[in-house]
Amino acid sequence: MIRYALVCDEGHEFESWFRDADAYEAQAARGLVSCARCGSTRVAKAIMAPAVARRDNAAPARPAATPTAPEPVALIDETQRELRGAIRALRARIEANTEDLGPRFPEEARRIHDGEAPQRSIRGEASLDDARALIEEGIEILPIPSLPDERN
Ligand SMILES: [Zn+2]
Repeated sequence: MIRYALVCDEGHEFESWFRDADAYEAQAARGLVSCARCGSTRVAKAIMAPAVARRDNAAPARPAATPTAPEPVALIDETQRELRGAIRALRARIEANTEDLGPRFPEEARRIHDGEAPQRSIRGEASLDDARALIEEGIEILPIPSLPDERN
């Protein structure tokens, strides 16, 4: 079973379970997937959150959780301050040593990969689709770790 975050053409977000990805595609194509709130059959998988390098102060609206490739996550006990400190330090180091390109990140990452832009470390924002496309193109990118209480 696979759970998808879905959104209808009225903007209602809801979740639904399917046997697998093909089952979702087949049911959606036949109009069998309908909004839990308004019944609309014009539904799509919800937009995913920028997954790679989100600036804390950019505060993008948080879309529904990713319906596909799960990301590694950890539940950190509040007492594990050392670990939280390490995550903060790692992120500070990334931020201090990279150029922030914001939403231009995927484009510039490709240009660097193709030798059209100077080789350097950059960070920015990428949707999960962007991130997956970059990885498939052989461009190594890295999600920047964040702590739940720092996301707003
Ligand atoms: Zn709806």
